[in-house]
Amino acid sequence: MENAKSRPATRHLFSRRGFLTGLGASVVQASLIGQAIPRFASAQRLGGYPFTLGIASGDPLPDGIVLWTRLAPDPLNGGGMPSRSVAVEWQIALDSNMQQVVQRGAVLATPALGHSVHVEVNGLEASRWYWYQFKVGSDVSQIGRTRTAPPEGTSLDQLRFAFISCQNYVNGYYPALQRMAEEDLEFCVHLGDYIYESGGSGVRAHLPAREIFSIDDYRTRYAQYKSDPALQAVHANFPWLMTWDDHEVENDYAGFLPENAADTSGFADRRARAYQVYYEHMPLRQAQIPTGPYLQLYRNISFGSLAQFSIMDTRQYRSARAPASCPANTRINGYCPAALDPSRTIEGDTQREWLLNSLANSKANWNVMANQVPFAPADGNPDPAIQQYGNEKWDGYPVDRQKVLDFLSATGLKNTIVLTGDLHLSYVRDVPPDYVNLDATPVGTEFIGTSVSSGGDRAIATTFGGDVNNPHQHFYNNGHGYVLCTITPQLWTSDFRVVPSVLVEDAPVSTLASFVVEQGRAGAQRA
Ligand code: FE
Ligand code: CA
Repeated sequence: MENAKSRPATRHLFSRRGFLTGLGASVVQASLIGQAIPRFASAQRLGGYPFTLGIASGDPLPDGIVLWTRLAPDPLNGGGMPSRSVAVEWQIALDSNMQQVVQRGAVLATPALGHSVHVEVNGLEASRWYWYQFKVGSDVSQIGRTRTAPPEGTSLDQLRFAFISCQNYVNGYYPALQRMAEEDLEFCVHLGDYIYESGGSGVRAHLPAREIFSIDDYRTRYAQYKSDPALQAVHANFPWLMTWDDHEVENDYAGFLPENAADTSGFADRRARAYQVYYEHMPLRQAQIPTGPYLQLYRNISFGSLAQFSIMDTRQYRSARAPASCPANTRINGYCPAALDPSRTIEGDTQREWLLNSLANSKANWNVMANQVPFAPADGNPDPAIQQYGNEKWDGYPVDRQKVLDFLSATGLKNTIVLTGDLHLSYVRDVPPDYVNLDATPVGTEFIGTSVSSGGDRAIATTFGGDVNNPHQHFYNNGHGYVLCTITPQLWTSDFRVVPSVLVEDAPVSTLASFVVEQGRAGAQRA
């Protein structure tokens, strides 16, 4: 791709062309009105090249986009920035050589947010590729490419994007991301586990080498992941829609309950630190700036009348995990009685209300739930006579899920597509109307994408079709990769793109299987 591998050339280009004149931040972002930009800050030398973490863009609107970078001349040692604010200039252009600049401005990178910047550019044209670049002093970033969303409500012939999850750095390299950067996409979706919080080493070694807790720990960990050239390349080539799962904070956390739910001391503070550093590293809007241990991540992003993405957060508001076990003879339709407590929730009442309103008001051809953990029920007991549910997926929160399923049944919506990460495995499942009748006429379709690297290499297994336990299942595979989705008003197509190994940085990608959903008919069919 033109921008990802060309840092020396673009640096030269931008040093020659200039950016803003030294004093001249001509446009100051609204977020900074009232704050003084130090007049000479941008001219002062930092400790080294500041754009080591690359650049990113995200959350496209028909007339706008978020541009992101974070200054980190010494990325793996807390960043290496002075404890003062630094002005960062930005510009956005119609061409990859940044000749036709349409907007420019400056923002402050503050120590409070790890010297990250989140520029919300407005006034752009819809459905258009743009290129952007940052500058501090005499240093310029690589040039990134991004794209605005189509005009609101307009019909579209086609849209292509890919979704990923779970990129554990110690389990392998990112050949999947290298290949994804080369795809013809309009945007990417990340469904969580962008980082892992544990220490340890494997194919690569985590920094710091232990579990992360402090702000500096989390910053160093994100910086390490973002130092990967393949990850940088995907960010540089497409805007991303981001959400998280558990490992951005701690494995299996639920709301304010840590993994070890018996000891909650300090967890709210840890969650606040983790949420802050997540925000610092993602191309998110001001609406997502955290307040203490809260960060509103659920939001809608639309692509004309073709697709509405409801981006979910099933971690922040969930109640405690379902009980791991109970006497078999007490189970009700596979559930421990305690799991059926109607007060248990995975999304929280407010988010569910927002989701159902979003679905009810949508005029889109496809309604997409961009979601962390498996949504459709999956019977975990191989005995055909025994159903068994209840874990930290939606299966652990059956009453909450049933409210969504009942809504889909009552409204007759057939066009709900659930995109899911978490499992490090690929599955295609029809979404049944309840957890009792898995083979009933589906009310939606779920595509579960495998991990980018998490789990590492393993003996590959693939299964087509369901079985007596899970008749609503169409596909299983345990390779690594991403899911490429091509959608038209009439047809949704998901291509399961897999790489042969994550033990190498570079590997080919191939389509293992494709599934389609026809408009007006929930459920997947093999293409
Ligand atoms: Fe994961
Ligand atoms: Ca069973």
